[in-house]
Amino acid sequence: MSDSSFTITNIELCPLDLPITDPFVVATGQLRVAHNAFVRLTLHDGTIGYGEIAPFPAITGEDRESSLKNARLLREHLLGQSTLHYQRLGHELSERAPDAPAARCGLETALLDALTRALRIPLWALWGGADVRARETDVTIPIASLERTKTLARQWYERGFRLFKMKVGHDVDEDVRRVETLHRHYPGVAFVIDANQGYTREEAAALVRGINRFGGNILLLEQPLAKDDLEGHAELKRHCRVPIAADESAQSLHDLQAVIRHRAADYVNIKITKSGLLDGVLMATVAKAAGLQVMLGGMVETRVAMGCSYGLAMGIGGCPVLDLDTPLLLGSDPIDGGYTYEGPRLQPWHGPGLDLDIPFFRAALSDRL
Ligand SMILES: [Mg+2]
Repeated sequence: MSDSSFTITNIELCPLDLPITDPFVVATGQLRVAHNAFVRLTLHDGTIGYGEIAPFPAITGEDRESSLKNARLLREHLLGQSTLHYQRLGHELSERAPDAPAARCGLETALLDALTRALRIPLWALWGGADVRARETDVTIPIASLERTKTLARQWYERGFRLFKMKVGHDVDEDVRRVETLHRHYPGVAFVIDANQGYTREEAAALVRGINRFGGNILLLEQPLAKDDLEGHAELKRHCRVPIAADESAQSLHDLQAVIRHRAADYVNIKITKSGLLDGVLMATVAKAAGLQVMLGGMVETRVAMGCSYGLAMGIGGCPVLDLDTPLLLGSDPIDGGYTYEGPRLQPWHGPGLDLDIPFFRAALSDRL
């Protein structure tokens, strides 16, 4: 195999709308259809790699149109380059498009999928394969009425899910009521509480008091306050009895360093779509070295982007909390192969790259402009 066989010769982009079964309502916005796009990258020897662009406008400000525009610009930089230089290429993409993490993530995932397929190793092996095993994910319960919350929780509970990621942040009393109802109906469940910046400091403290009152098991409280209020998070961390996770506060390596300096969190939620893939890998390394726990999450993604995140968890190891449920929230699964779900458990794959195929790419009118 000559080095030129690793050279990128073609990159195609293909948009796909993915209806969500229940509206994905969080404190800052909602999504009924994920307007994602997919990347197919081809190497000189014919090897193909896939990636996914999954912008979430309310969180990173990107939408599909801006992501595709950035992906087309970045594509020009990648064509003719060797995937063996992926570290440098990732760095150059970050410099050229710092505000387009979803687009960068899609291209980087396709690049590493192609590279590891060409090397005949699973993607997770690229990062060491420290923890290759089936892993349990939480499941998201969006902001909804009490009745709808109960119905959704029952469906997931019956499928074996025991860690509920509760979206909150509109009304503290109602939020406490929703958590308490599930706690009483489903003994033994634990909660990740994600406010997506929806609370004031007082409201966040009231939520923790309210849940402690009935003995709810909060695994962690994610992003209760505005992303810039690191002092507030540090204060909450000191005074409340639950671990704090930084999500919107840690969109980049630079952000993460500020979170560490302020001692503002116990966990950091790493999402490759939020930071870009290679920056996300670096953030996970830095977070762990600083004594933070790593949680791996995502936007509304299929098993392409989420498979990459699961591969990262298996590769680097030491990621105690997985929030990798969104393929289960979609109306259909457009992917063949890859990892699978058995109830809440993700089952690893062992073939090269992400070991999956995206059949609609063959049928769709691809964007080659
Ligand atoms: Mg979050």
